[in-house]
Amino acid sequence: IAISTSGVSPVLARMIKQVIEKAVPSQFERLINFLNKKRQSVREKLSAVQPRRLFLEKVTQGPIAEEVLEGNDGNADILFDTALEKAENSRQAALYLIGTGPGNPDLMTVKAVRLLGRADVVLYDRLTAPELLERFARKDAEKICVGKTRCHHHATQETIDALIEKNLREGKIVARLKGGDPGVFGHVAEEVAIAKQVGAPYHIVPGVTAASGCAAYAGVPLTQRDGARSVRLITLYNDKVEDPDFWESLKLAKDETFVFYMSSTRYATICGRLLENGFSPDTPLTVSEQGTTPQQRIYPATLGDFEEKYGDKAFASPNLMIIGEAARYALTDNWKENAKEAGAFFAPLPEKRELSPCLNG
Ligand code: SAH
Repeated sequence: IAISTSGVSPVLARMIKQVIEKAVPSQFERLINFLNKKRQSVREKLSAVQPRRLFLEKVTQGPIAEEVLEGNDGNADILFDTALEKAENSRQAALYLIGTGPGNPDLMTVKAVRLLGRADVVLYDRLTAPELLERFARKDAEKICVGKTRCHHHATQETIDALIEKNLREGKIVARLKGGDPGVFGHVAEEVAIAKQVGAPYHIVPGVTAASGCAAYAGVPLTQRDGARSVRLITLYNDKVEDPDFWESLKLAKDETFVFYMSSTRYATICGRLLENGFSPDTPLTVSEQGTTPQQRIYPATLGDFEEKYGDKAFASPNLMIIGEAARYALTDNWKENAKEAGAFFAPLPEKRELSPCLNG
C-alpha cells in the first residue's frame, strides 16, 4: 500500500496511513498466506463467483480470520475445512430494501452500508446521492438507475418490481435503495411481496426519513412539550386536496406538527386550506429544500405570509414543508455562509417525464 499526496500535505498522508493501519490488522500477511494455501480447494468446491465471494467474506471477517491472525493455524484449518465442507455452490438471492437517509451520505446507518456492500445489483433513483454508490457499493456490482417521475409513479413501479423479480430469480442479491426511510412513502409492501413470492429472504433497513433529517438540519424539534405533541407525515394525492373531510380532520390537530412530503407544487394551496379551517395566520412553517445536503436552504414563513413571500417560487427538488409551532425554531437565515447554488446535489428532474426508466448500468 502506497500513499502519496504529491508532497502537498504530509499531514493528510499521515492521517490516511493511520486510518489504514487501524483497519488492517498487523498480522495481515498471515491471513494472505492462509488464503493462498486454501485457494485451490475453495475454487474447486465453489466454482460460482457469488457463493465463493460470500464464503470468503465470511472467512476474512469472522472467527477463522481471528484464529489465523492469532497464529492458531491448526484451529483455523479445522474451522475452515468444516465451513467449506458445508458451503453450497449455489447462488443466494436476497432483497435488501435500504433506507439511505435524506441525501447526506453521513446519515446512512451502519447496516445500510454493510448490506449495500454485499449486493450484486443495486437499484437506485434520483434521491440517491452519487457519492454513496461510489463509496459503499461494490465496484463490480451492477448499478441500475430506476429514476421515478412524479407523474408516472405507477407504471414505473411496475418496471421496478419486474426488475427486482428478474434479478432475484437469477439468484442475485438485490439492494433497492430508497431515499429516507423505506417505510415512509416508499412502496415497501409491494417490493417485499415480490421477495416472498420468489421465496427470497429480505431485509428492510430503516433510514432517517426526510422529516427527521430536514427538521434536525433546520434546528426544528418535531415534537415539543408545548404546542407540538405529535407529528403527522402527509402526502397529498389529488383526491385529498379536494376532500373537505381531510382538511376538516386537521382542524382537531392544532397541537401537531405536519410534514408535507411530495407536495412542492401545492404549498400555497395547503396554507390556504389550513387558514380556511381555522388555523391562525401566525402559524409558523418552514420549507426545507435539499435538506441535510451542502445545498440545503431553509425558507421560514407563516401560513399567512407564505404566498406573498414564496408564492411564485419554484423550490429545488426535493423539498418538504413543516407546519406548526415547532417550526418557530427554524433557523431564520441559511446557516452556511456562501450557500451553494440550490439544486446542485441531486440529479435534476427530467425535463420530459417519460415512462421508461433509464437503465444505464
Ligand atoms: N422515503 C422517503 C420519502 C420518499 S417521498 C423518506 O422517508 O424521506 C420523496 C419526498 O421526500 C420528496 O418529494 C420530498 O418531499 C421529501 N424529501 C426527500 N429527501 C428530501 C430532502 N433531502 N430535503 C427535503 N425533502 C426531501
